[in-house]
Amino acid sequence: MRRWGLAALLAGVTWQTQAQPTAVPTVAPAILLRPAAVFDGQDLHPGWAVLVENDRITAAGPAAQLALPAGGRTLELPGLTLLPGLIEGHSHLLLHPYNETPWNDQVLLESQALRVARATAHAQRTLLAGFTTARDLGTEGAAYADVGLKQAIDKGVIPGPRLLVATRALVATGSYGPKLSVDEDVPQGAQEADGVDGIIRAVREQMGKGADVVKVYADYRWGPGGSAQPTFSQEELTLIVQTARSAGRGVVAHASTPEGMRRAVLAGVETIEHGDEGTLEVFQLMKKRGVALCPTVAATDAIAQYKGWKKGADALPPRVQQKHLSMQAALKAGVTLALGGDVGVFAHGDNAREMELLVRDYGLTPLQVLRQATSGNAQIFHLADRGNIRPGLLADLIAVAGDPTQDVAAVCQVRLVMKGGALYKQP
Ligand SMILES: [Zn+2]
Repeated sequence: MRRWGLAALLAGVTWQTQAQPTAVPTVAPAILLRPAAVFDGQDLHPGWAVLVENDRITAAGPAAQLALPAGGRTLELPGLTLLPGLIEGHSHLLLHPYNETPWNDQVLLESQALRVARATAHAQRTLLAGFTTARDLGTEGAAYADVGLKQAIDKGVIPGPRLLVATRALVATGSYGPKLSVDEDVPQGAQEADGVDGIIRAVREQMGKGADVVKVYADYRWGPGGSAQPTFSQEELTLIVQTARSAGRGVVAHASTPEGMRRAVLAGVETIEHGDEGTLEVFQLMKKRGVALCPTVAATDAIAQYKGWKKGADALPPRVQQKHLSMQAALKAGVTLALGGDVGVFAHGDNAREMELLVRDYGLTPLQVLRQATSGNAQIFHLADRGNIRPGLLADLIAVAGDPTQDVAAVCQVRLVMKGGALYKQP
């Protein structure tokens, strides 16, 4: 028996070496990238070049000062700006646009296999759009499928961004959806948990299954057609943060009401998602406590258009007006902004829409949103190994046509995508 076992083991080894994953392009030992300019996560440097060896950046600076090691190759990138791989702060790879299929139907009617198959395509589109990392904030009823998706990407089975996953997310019983007939309990888009024991158990369960971050819904629309109201108590939110933090995880809160936001901030969450009804007072509290806002303006914009808003022709609908007011208050308070669009509400691969809207509709500068999407998100999400172009960091790099610090729309013209030194797209 032992001998047979060893033979089977060896056969397994042979099979594994024959079946190499094909989704990861080979990594060159050394490659010198020579674009027109480099945006290093902070500022633009015309005439710089970047040297990549294996999966890391090993040098960055004026092109004349960089030497190519023996056996390396040079990639000329005329007219392009090289920048750190963009970091998506709020995606749902397991969702697809609501104008294709309403959220309720995705959660209740689509099989997990269909949803995962879609998610693999979404992951590839995200990467090829220049987003080499994504914080994926909840599977919305697809259980722990994000953990497997992340593993498939890390193992090189499918192409995709490096993922931070939130798994199921936490909601207070009765607060979330889908909401159908009161006579039927239907599967929910997140895990219900309440009270001391229930909450501690749910947070630990999610972390044990692979959650990198814990997501909590601090408010939601109670009852059929109800308006958003706080969900968890202050004590419950504080316990969620304490339980996650003791295992080295941060907590992010979906919140749009001032009271839901206030409780989440006092509990110690790291980011507030949406913040639609945020007041100057609550944003000042966020500023004081170092909590970032991920405003997801692209989701607000998309949902308003799905509901019939003819952008450019019609007046701003109330929800969009409200978003403008909250963003003005957030900017006035000086809150740190994370960059994340709530992708999945709209198409994966259109991630840069959030950056364009922040500049075009909300008055931010291209430089502000570029920093947000690179070094800013890296800092907020504790990703010290990326988000900047510096020796020693991961070789997650993209090149875009033109100068994105002048015209942010350049980030839609992605010509090169490198992740961990592997080229997924090149001119
Ligand atoms: Zn979301």
